[in-house]
Amino acid sequence: MNALAGRFPARTVRVKAPGKVNVSLDVGPLRQDGYHSVASVYLAVSLYEEVSATSTVSPGITVSISPDSTLDLDDVDIPLDENNLAYKAAAIMADVSEHATGVHLEITKRVPVAGGMGGGSADAAATLLACDALWNSGLSREELAHLAGELGADVPFSLLGGTAVGLGLGDELSPALAKAQTDWVLVAADYGLSTPEVYRTLDRLREAEGVVAAEPEAVDPKILQALRSGDADALSRVLVNDLQRASIELAPDLRVTLGMGESLGAIAGIVSGSGPTVALLAHSPSAAESLAEDLLHRGMTAWAVHGPVPGARIISDTLL
Ligand code: ATP
Repeated sequence: MNALAGRFPARTVRVKAPGKVNVSLDVGPLRQDGYHSVASVYLAVSLYEEVSATSTVSPGITVSISPDSTLDLDDVDIPLDENNLAYKAAAIMADVSEHATGVHLEITKRVPVAGGMGGGSADAAATLLACDALWNSGLSREELAHLAGELGADVPFSLLGGTAVGLGLGDELSPALAKAQTDWVLVAADYGLSTPEVYRTLDRLREAEGVVAAEPEAVDPKILQALRSGDADALSRVLVNDLQRASIELAPDLRVTLGMGESLGAIAGIVSGSGPTVALLAHSPSAAESLAEDLLHRGMTAWAVHGPVPGARIISDTLL
């Protein structure tokens, strides 16, 4: 914190950042460092987290969840202390900002928690951008992306948005020029899955089968071709998620959700990342809307979304 801080007028910067679907996710073997290399195509979709960062007179970082959150958060464990990814993002920004003040972060949750869509990562990306503006830190997108990588493998993508290929831990990103829209229905579960536990389950399944996975080095070019042309049928044939069978092993009802989606008209379905959110591919925005409605009538929580959408961006900047 800096003595100049008190001279800054109180301000609120509001940022929205998208959740993601992994259209493809190839997972390599367990590495010596305990991580797995991946090759993935990320798609940013129109389900957004929002973070509102307000400068405060008292120093330090506080976090609250907005009552505008659209998720049922009663049984969900979101830390509000230094374990919250948004808190960590503000702390990392405070370290590199000359004019950091105290800050209150109010998070509007819309992306399922522990759902495999990078919701916490979106909060972190939004917070980096909000604090950069709030404290006039003037970091470039590259510098913000570097800080994002320190916070978690999915954080840089939420900052970048669009469509991108992710290698390494998923944080070595190359933007893909695939701007055609695809339409999806996201089906949330009423429980979360721990990403590390899903990876451990995949390792266990592979070990039991005597399978040694190859190191993933690239993604199937057919996936990018299908995303470039917006050809949902072609895309349906190349969707792949190595984690899916591990998620299903931990949560067998996901098979039912995938089957129900396809029987109600989805072209194809895939577990998003480590799950348990399921992403169902539709032919058009109206097909996605009616599929989401059918699922809602059957008691499921479902949203029609599209991608790609831009990464984290400022939606308002208000002097108080
Ligand atoms: P990923 O797909 O990146 O692995 P996810 O979408 O499956 O992540 P998150 O919603 O990001 O999972 O949260 C995973 C866990 O992280 C939660 O169970 C929660 O305890 C913790 N967490 C920390 N910060 C946040 C946050 N801002 N929002 C939600 N959960 C958070």
